[in-house]
Amino acid sequence: MVNSCRECDNCRAGDEQYCLRGNTQTYGSVDRDGTTTRGGYSTHVVVDEDFVVRIPEGLALDVAAPLLCAGITTYSPLRHWNAGPGTQVAVVGLGGLGHMAVQLAHAMGAEVTVLSQSLRKEEDGLRLGAAQYFATSDPETFRTLRGRFDLIINTVSAKLDVGRLLGLLGTDGALVNVGAPPEPLPVPVFGLLLQRRTFAGSLIGSIRETQEMLDFCAEHGIASEIEIISAEQINEAWERVLASDVRYRFVIDAATFASSGTISSS
Ligand SMILES: [Zn+2]
Repeated sequence: MVNSCRECDNCRAGDEQYCLRGNTQTYGSVDRDGTTTRGGYSTHVVVDEDFVVRIPEGLALDVAAPLLCAGITTYSPLRHWNAGPGTQVAVVGLGGLGHMAVQLAHAMGAEVTVLSQSLRKEEDGLRLGAAQYFATSDPETFRTLRGRFDLIINTVSAKLDVGRLLGLLGTDGALVNVGAPPEPLPVPVFGLLLQRRTFAGSLIGSIRETQEMLDFCAEHGIASEIEIISAEQINEAWERVLASDVRYRFVIDAATFASSGTISSS
């Protein structure tokens, strides 16, 4: 996000990501002056000072880069739904978003459980701060964890069984989607009525909150786990992203843009 109207109720309240006139996205958005935004894959980028954040000392630029997306996308709902000491938080999916959600929720003091299709990444999950790791492919998981959680952060951008996840929430628990599946998800309403549960979504965070998240990460020694690539490797990296073969974010070394002729504006 690089701009918003700055006048609506949400902008004035410091929730400019929910600007009522629509925020201006970093890529492919029509900006307030009518130009189209072109993102940050460049040697230089001009951004309004109100939409700039400071990378704190002690946080390297390469591991900080994904925090501006995966970091804030998971930090904001964890804060909004009060993850902290005494709360049970589940993270669905251990990918780019999930591996941040686990670290952040753990640093906030919550007890964290990872729910992943298989136990393939269990070692990573526990190392990142999860207390427990369960496979969603095992039906026993849903019996064992029934009614357990105060908050479930779903990072998966694919169709999955919302009803089964709702059953894992306790009274007043919330299932929050930060993954964005292209298809609608069927929600069994009885799963909401029983125990007054909530099914919600959350989009990035405000600029103020993004700065707070960066400072929080620096303070707690949290960073994204990355693999650095050059501009020439973007197509290959994209194929690996589609194959879920990245732990956990690719970062493109911007120094390689200047010499590369392979990048188009698309
Ligand atoms: Zn606005």
